[in-house]
Parts: sequence; structure tokens; C-alpha cells
Amino acid sequence: FDQLDGEIWFNGEFVAAKDAKVHVLTHGLHYASAVFEGERAYGGRIFKLDEHTRRLHDSAKILGFTIPYSPETIEEACNTLLSRQGLTDAYVRPIAWRGSEMMGVSAQNNSINCAIAIWDWPSYFKPEERLKGIRLDLAEYRRPDPKTAPSKSKASGLYMICTLSKHAAEDKGYADALMLDWRGQVAEATGANVFFVKDGALHTPTPDCFLDGITRRTVIALARRRGIEVIERVIMPEEMDGFEQCFLTGTAAEVTPVSEIGPYRFNVGEITSQLMNDYMSTVQPERAAAE
Ligand code: PMP
Repeated sequence: FDQLDGEIWFNGEFVAAKDAKVHVLTHGLHYASAVFEGERAYGGRIFKLDEHTRRLHDSAKILGFTIPYSPETIEEACNTLLSRQGLTDAYVRPIAWRGSEMMGVSAQNNSINCAIAIWDWPSYFKPEERLKGIRLDLAEYRRPDPKTAPSKSKASGLYMICTLSKHAAEDKGYADALMLDWRGQVAEATGANVFFVKDGALHTPTPDCFLDGITRRTVIALARRRGIEVIERVIMPEEMDGFEQCFLTGTAAEVTPVSEIGPYRFNVGEITSQLMNDYMSTVQPERAAAE
């Protein structure tokens, strides 16, 4: 990404990507006072851009700062940057952080900065693995109690345990890791939500200490539209033994089937395939219309 071509929107201006730099004494870097988004554009349109932009603002509020650019300004910047980058299908990464004016835990008067980068990112997991179902390890780290961390914010600091867990899984040959929460209940993957299928119904953990993903909510609506029952509840890891199918949802991951989580095995079944197709038709309405 040091070599990212084109431009980055940086505090209100389009600058050459190579010049979009921050000072090493940035508070966001030292103390993780940063929040970000992950969005995808399909056919030149950023899917649910308004929801992502609202979540970016809300994430910042939860960390105690206000992004000095309105949602409208950020949305327009995302759309303009997409066309300036000459991309129609792309990943969009807005980020906001506390600047470098003061160094120390307290940063009351630091500037709030915001940047947006866009790049081509076709598949989060290897395409050949994705259709067969990806393999997940069980993570050592657990999603913290909301009293321990601001779990409703898409805050950079919360990704420390995600990177550790994903690296540990990759070192063992897995694509990703499933994280439990502090109570030992099934939570989510390191950058995506998780769903299971049993007896024709979808089961997914209640998002009370991790992100209620925009893709998660989209897939729940798609399943209900098909008449599939969706049950949000506490899921204990041992229950995975009785589940037939499993998949992940996320902006980057889209709907990705899972074949394995630690000792548990799943099929890539019909409900998973239907929801993968429904999701792609929703994000790419032109494709659905052409079919
Ligand atoms: N959980 C985590 C930890 C994530 O990073 C993401 C991706 N933003 C998700 C869930 C899914 O969220 P969304 O569907 O809004 O991309």
C-alpha cells in the first residue's frame, strides 16, 4: 500500500497517495484513537454508503471525538474519489483519528483528521478456497465485555486481538479464526460476522459485544424475505457440532461459506448458496437485472 496509485482524500483535499502522510507522533498511532470504515463499490455505487458514513461518525462519538466533516461531505468525497480513481468495483476505506499536537494519553485539543482511500480488492479470501468453504481456527483471544472496551465502535484498537488471532490462524494454515466472547459464547470472525444453518433455519449470535455488521443485517433481511427463519441468540461453541452449514458475512468477506471451525465440519449447502447469490444480486442490481 506504500505504492497505492492515484489519490487519497485527506482532510478535505485530494492529494497524491504518496503524499498522504501523518506524523509519527500521531495520537491515533500511539494510543489507537482512530475509527474506520470498510465499504465496497459495485458498478460505480458504494453499497449502503449512508449507513457506513453514519457508523463512522457514531464510532468517533463513542471514542469521544467528532469528525469535522458532515456525513454529506464524506459521502461526496467517497463518490468523487471513486470516479477520480477510475474504479467502479472497489474497496473504500475512510479513517478518522486524533492528530499529533499533544503527546500523552490525554489529547483533548488534538486535531481530528479524516482520510479516505480506495483500491481494487476483488476477494478477501482466496477465490478458489472461498467456494469450497474456508477453514477457521478457534482463536485464543476473546471479544471483550462492553464494560472493558467500546465494542459498538469500529475502533482501530479493537483490531489488535483480531490481527493476533488471524496471524495465529494463518500460521497454522487456516484462513481466519472464530472468536468467542468473554463469556465463552460464539462471537464472530476477526473481520466478519458468523451464521449457522440447522434444520432450515439460520442461527447467529446476538451482537451484544461485537459489530452488528451492515452485511449481517442485509443477509438477515434477505433470509427473511425467502421465508427462512432467523434466530439471534446465545450460541455455545459445542453447539457447532450439530450445525449443518456455516458462513461469514462482512463488507470485505461478502457471504463466504465456512467448511471447518476447529474440530467442527460444515457443508456448503443450499441456504448458504442462495444467500450468497441473493447478496450479490442486492449489491449488484445491474447484474441481477442482466441475468
Ligand atoms: N465484525 C468485524 C470485527 C468486522 O471488522 C466487520 C467488518 N467491518 C464485521 C464484523 C462486519 O461488518 P460489515 O458487515 O458492516 O462490514
